[in-house]
Amino acid sequence: MRPVSSWGRLSADPHDVIELTDRDRVAAELSRVDRAGIAHGLGKSYGDASLNPQGILWSTRGLDRLIAFDAAAGRLTCEAGVVLRDIQRVMIPRGWSLPVVPGTQLVTVGGAIANDVHGKNHHVVGTFGEHVRRLRLVRSNGEAIDCGPDLRPDWFAATVGGLGLTGLIVEAELQLRRTAGPWLEAETVAFAGLDEFFALSDESEADWEHTVSWIDCTSGSVMRGLFMRARQAKAGNGTAWRERRRRMPFTPPLSLVNGLSLRPFNALYYNVNRRRTGLRTVHYEAFLYPLDSILDWNRLYGPAGFFQYQSVVPREAAVPATCDMLDAIAAAGQGSFLAVLKTFGARPSAGLLSFPRPGVTLALDFRNSRALASLFARLDDIVRAAGGRLYPAKDARMPRALYEATYPNLAAFAKHRDPGMSSAMSRRLMGS
Ligand SMILES: Cc1cc2nc3c(=O)[nH]c(=O)nc-3n(C[C@H](O)[C@H](O)[C@H](O)COP(=O)(O)OP(=O)(O)OC[C@H]3O[C@@H](n4cnc5c(N)ncnc54)[C@H](O)[C@@H]3O)c2cc1C
Repeated sequence: MRPVSSWGRLSADPHDVIELTDRDRVAAELSRVDRAGIAHGLGKSYGDASLNPQGILWSTRGLDRLIAFDAAAGRLTCEAGVVLRDIQRVMIPRGWSLPVVPGTQLVTVGGAIANDVHGKNHHVVGTFGEHVRRLRLVRSNGEAIDCGPDLRPDWFAATVGGLGLTGLIVEAELQLRRTAGPWLEAETVAFAGLDEFFALSDESEADWEHTVSWIDCTSGSVMRGLFMRARQAKAGNGTAWRERRRRMPFTPPLSLVNGLSLRPFNALYYNVNRRRTGLRTVHYEAFLYPLDSILDWNRLYGPAGFFQYQSVVPREAAVPATCDMLDAIAAAGQGSFLAVLKTFGARPSAGLLSFPRPGVTLALDFRNSRALASLFARLDDIVRAAGGRLYPAKDARMPRALYEATYPNLAAFAKHRDPGMSSAMSRRLMGS
């Protein structure tokens, strides 16, 4: 037994961690135990999706081998514990790239499939699951199921975005896409208010592959922000890039993100970045995963940890719903340094329980405090009334009633559940 936390650091309960290292032995390992467990990748989900206090966690970090690569078709077969960063670093110099990578590349292939993650280019390429050709699932009774969009598609649809609850993904075949190299042409545009944000989004979607906005939410709906967009630069366009990695060396006794620090922090970030106008050439790692350069940055929030609240609402409801959420946050005296606004495109997600849907997604971090319960209840009401939903990968507290009301495919999904797979999240949201 050892303590395991997720990215939000809200708990550190003991878990019985079983390290999987040999893909041919996964079936035997899973069927050997008589208690329910759950797969655990790099634990980058913020809440309890990959936690199972007092129970089994099957850690996939040792399933880290690349198995085969078809260099003509760009098809990569790998084990589920392979980290997306490693795929990118091996494949981009060979002219191939993962189509979808989330805001950190320090996640596993299995975790990316089980949360059907999205990136800053959702409006162009959809979610991670859309680019999975095949996967091998091992159930807790030892049964292996190979599935894909055209092979046992019901199992595939349940497993993509299925939160590890249909079984353990052992390996996957991914369709990569051609890339001219590691350089992106990027631009930052300052904006004020949601109307300007939507105008920039609409104007950018045809020509810019990656779009995302940071917003300063300290003044409620009267907000300002930075719209960041990027697209592939021509090969060999950049100058030498060196990875710079710092680490938050300790956990401060109190959160460094608080009412006193937030306004000056946000003002500084906004003012420094809004002056960086004009096109610049940046390495993809610097643009796509800025947070990866500070390891353990989640310690900034102190020993009590933090929540992320990520919602998506349909476009037609987005302006009033986003204004209401930002005003509710300001009225509660809360705020977030990491506040991100982005539009999702219309491509349907591959999974029955995938989070993305066409509309606008807002993600905010909050240091853990008692005052959050009533704010979250208010935000939940706004999201639900707008026809939206919350992202389980970021969630640690959504009420079951909200989940059931906003994920309409739950009944179809339940037919594929593995009774030997259970997490703190599945017990909270599905009752088992
Ligand atoms: C800084 C940061 C930025 C982020 N940005 C984004 C973003 O832009 N877009 C986005 O979509 N997400 C984002 N995320 C969330 C992250 O991409 C997901 O939580 C991802 O699933 C984490 O992968 P992991 O390998 O750490 O999996 P874990 O967190 O360990 O597990 C996640 C889920 O996958 C299941 N799982 C893991 N491995 C397997 C397997 N082999 N078989 C079956 N199930 C498995 C687990 O049981 C669990 O339900 C971000 C997270 C961080 C910390």
